[in-house]
Amino acid sequence: MYHQDFGNNTPEACIKCGECCRKNGPALHLDDLHLLRNKTLDRKDLLLLRRGEPAMDNVLGRPILLSRELIKIRSKNSDTTECIFLDPDSSLCTIHQMRPLECFLLECWNPGPLISKYQSGRLTRKEIFRPGSAMEELMCVYDEKCSVVEFSGLLQEEMESPDKNQDKIKAMLRYDLSFREIILEKTVAEKSELLFYFGRPLHELMEPLLDFLRQNPNNRHP
Ligand code: SF4
Repeated sequence: MYHQDFGNNTPEACIKCGECCRKNGPALHLDDLHLLRNKTLDRKDLLLLRRGEPAMDNVLGRPILLSRELIKIRSKNSDTTECIFLDPDSSLCTIHQMRPLECFLLECWNPGPLISKYQSGRLTRKEIFRPGSAMEELMCVYDEKCSVVEFSGLLQEEMESPDKNQDKIKAMLRYDLSFREIILEKTVAEKSELLFYFGRPLHELMEPLLDFLRQNPNNRHP
């Protein structure tokens, strides 16, 4: 996706270099809901980023703490930012005809169209799951018990006063792992879908959060 550091040296047309797709997958917008409904995008292709998580802002080109959740297309694995739909041999998008809004708007030589829509109409779980459905209730329970904002606050205090929150942090990490195990045991959810329903487990967020907090000591939680 667009980053400020590669907007000036391209011709005024897409040369299909795949560079934007290697930088990060797009966040989804309400206009992309049909892509879930028509199965272009499967739940296993998606990653939920929850409120309070550090995330790369594709327009600013730097990490920010999210003030609300978003759903994005996953990277190929945790060692890369490359979008799962990029064909590594051809550098072409494998869902080009059905690509999400942000990809459709992106002109790396002309960021205006993407920037104008970037923050608005982001898709969240609320638009996908019926209120009161079993999964929606489970997501609410998880968000309350494993809040990223709360976890991040505990980590921040712990950095300032070591050992103050050790027990609380461990309890949240344990709850998170047990919760996910129970979901797999008792529901039809598949392991590959958990990142979409609940986002990354807290133990995976710990290092990115600590890094962010170290580098941005004055950044308050959203
Ligand atoms: S969906 Fe296609 S166009 Fe969009 S980032 Fe992924 S590979 Fe690139």
